[in-house]
Amino acid sequence: MPKEIKKNALDKNFAKYLIAWQKKDGRHHLPWQINRTAYRVWLSEIMLQQTQVSTVLIRYQEFLKRFPDLRSLAMATVDDVLSEWSGMGYYTRARNLHKCARVVMSEHDGIFPSDPVALEKLPGIGRSTAAAIAVFSYGQRAAILDGNVKRVLARVWGIEADLSKSAETKKLWTHAETLLPKKPDDLVAYTQGLMDFGATFCTQYGPLCLSEKSPKCPFNKDCVAKALGKIEQIPLKVKKVKVIRLDMNWWIAIQKNKVLLEKRPNQGIWAGMWSFPEKFNDVLTKKGQPMQKVSHVLTHRRLTIQPMMLDLNKQKVVIEPNQQWFVFEDALALGVPKPVRTILLNLIQVRDGV
Ligand code: SF4
Repeated sequence: MPKEIKKNALDKNFAKYLIAWQKKDGRHHLPWQINRTAYRVWLSEIMLQQTQVSTVLIRYQEFLKRFPDLRSLAMATVDDVLSEWSGMGYYTRARNLHKCARVVMSEHDGIFPSDPVALEKLPGIGRSTAAAIAVFSYGQRAAILDGNVKRVLARVWGIEADLSKSAETKKLWTHAETLLPKKPDDLVAYTQGLMDFGATFCTQYGPLCLSEKSPKCPFNKDCVAKALGKIEQIPLKVKKVKVIRLDMNWWIAIQKNKVLLEKRPNQGIWAGMWSFPEKFNDVLTKKGQPMQKVSHVLTHRRLTIQPMMLDLNKQKVVIEPNQQWFVFEDALALGVPKPVRTILLNLIQVRDGV
């Protein structure tokens, strides 16, 4: 069969096969699939961007308990939101959630717009997330194209191009749009199907079609990557950005059972979050006692942190305007990065003699 005709047939049937698969084998009971409001869908989409589903399942419910609706989120301080987000990493997401909630309250009367183009203008919402919100909350016709979907389309159509290049991504967006089902009623199952299929079947490593006992892939006969024996080569893996090693000193200043934290600058690692000072009074730091080193991995950095304990009970200390003394438990309740949290928990254990 000529390649062109086969490709057209696949374009035509892709949505049909995917919807049938989703209805039978897709996910139907995720918390954000129940009572689908734009707020709940948006929150789940942002959380799922860089966090595993198993973690999101827990944290999503906790977040909703603290901020049950857009208004409560917009009224909170950014520190409250960061504190609830603590431990999930990629804190820009939390800051953007807060910003976005405020913009929707002030510029859209507290209601998320239904138009994907308007949604994409909101802080922290990219094109694919905007489409997901528009489809799931408002039944709009829009295509999603996150990392999972790119992989599925690339494999099924055997696209070997470098998808990190914007020209290639643009072509894929156009393709994704042509694949949308005709019937509006099918859009939710189709979009959910794309997400589910990429997350549970055509996974990055070990897609189920490679396992003998797995159920049959709905695209078994059509998948070009499979036919070419190139499943593991598609999509093309681009060179990873080099990870930089970074050494840091943190000064753990303690006075009257309180610990000194400082608000980090709004740019750079852990922007705007509370952390231990990296610089401190030169005279006082001479008395610093090294504590156990802490390692922490960020997207492009591997940090080795040397915490230095400073017992300042009898010292007069002048602190900077961005610094503040906190009772340990209050410090823990702030939006603090994971290594700060680890050190604070250790300090509490030592204080309580655990
Ligand atoms: S045959 Fe394998 S690679 Fe192709 S779509 Fe199915 S699961 Fe993915």
